[in-house]
Amino acid sequence: MDDTRKKSLRIGILEGDDIGHEIVPASVRIARAAARAAEQEIDWVEVPIGRRALDTHGHTMPDGTLETLAGLDGWILGPIGHREYPKVPEAINPHPILRKHFDLFANVRPTRSFPNIGCLHDDIDMVIVRENNEGFQPDRNVVAGSGEFRPSHDMTISVRVISTAGSKKVARAAFEIARTRDKRLTLVHKNTVYKLGCGMFVDSCYEVAKDFPDVTVDEVIVDTMAMRLVRDPQSFDTIVTTNMFGDILTDEAAGLVGGLGMAPGLCIGRGSVAMAQATHGSAPDIAGKNIANPFAMIESTRMLFDWLGHHHGLAPALELSRHMKRGIDAALADPATRTPDIRGTGSQQDMIAGILNGMEAA
Ligand code: ATP
Repeated sequence: MDDTRKKSLRIGILEGDDIGHEIVPASVRIARAAARAAEQEIDWVEVPIGRRALDTHGHTMPDGTLETLAGLDGWILGPIGHREYPKVPEAINPHPILRKHFDLFANVRPTRSFPNIGCLHDDIDMVIVRENNEGFQPDRNVVAGSGEFRPSHDMTISVRVISTAGSKKVARAAFEIARTRDKRLTLVHKNTVYKLGCGMFVDSCYEVAKDFPDVTVDEVIVDTMAMRLVRDPQSFDTIVTTNMFGDILTDEAAGLVGGLGMAPGLCIGRGSVAMAQATHGSAPDIAGKNIANPFAMIESTRMLFDWLGHHHGLAPALELSRHMKRGIDAALADPATRTPDIRGTGSQQDMIAGILNGMEAA
């Protein structure tokens, strides 16, 4: 037997909130079926997180969570509905902590158009690599307190952190991704105004570019990028940008290809763990209605196995990913197995069944 086949993966299941209780179990179900077909052993570990963990364990991220996750190869994190949490110290938003603690500094968010689902353009195929752990996000740019404060009743100051180390790390991750694609990387920034912050980000990217002479680099100012994404998104391949610009542009990119249900993501770092996390939030408005689009979470899960397969040289994990892709493509091709947000006539359960059937038929 091939030696790599002995490797079992330990994967965490963190459902999160609201539609997380639907789309995470669906992702696990589909990954389990694909794993059986690909003969990839997986040890699944349920990890309580979010509102239900507050009720059962007294905290939205109970003691021991980080230790449990440290023993895993990766995990699937459902969306977190922290805005609805009670205002108590035990109810925190766990995902910035997870990204920071495991140094998952790059948030890899692909955007791809599929036929007949309501995409604004055909032939979009790009990846936005968003810096994850610094920038303007006040919960990530300080070790204590908050990067946002109010010195007087009528004034608020928000601090943005840009470092050469953080910028180089995300740049390297983006160059590595660009190298596996069309070998084109676009730096998105606004160094015309943020001369020091964005200036440092851009300079750091060019430093890293010296190690990737095979990748062509260009630059677009972020406001121009917002416009060009609408007009000619097909002209982009891999994009790297700072945290908040990436947050906004990835939602815009999702809007080009059918909405937030079509926006997957994978958080990666330099270590050997990765976290599957869709771009969208917990969508409480549609929870329990059997209409939330499971694609983004399922595709994030597929990306996790693909990444683990490459990272560990695990052929069955790559095969698992290919199985999932076949199922996903089959379901997306048929309106009866698509949710209403992407011009489907089916329910969430129909879409999940369509993916499972598509995998079996392959
Ligand atoms: P966050 O700030 O936590 O990312 P948000 O404010 O962007 O959250 P979401 O929960 O992502 O809000 O929801 C925004 C809108 O997109 C809602 O109308 C929601 O129903 C819709 N939406 C989000 N995810 C999906 C999905 N998977 N399928 C269908 N619609 C979705």
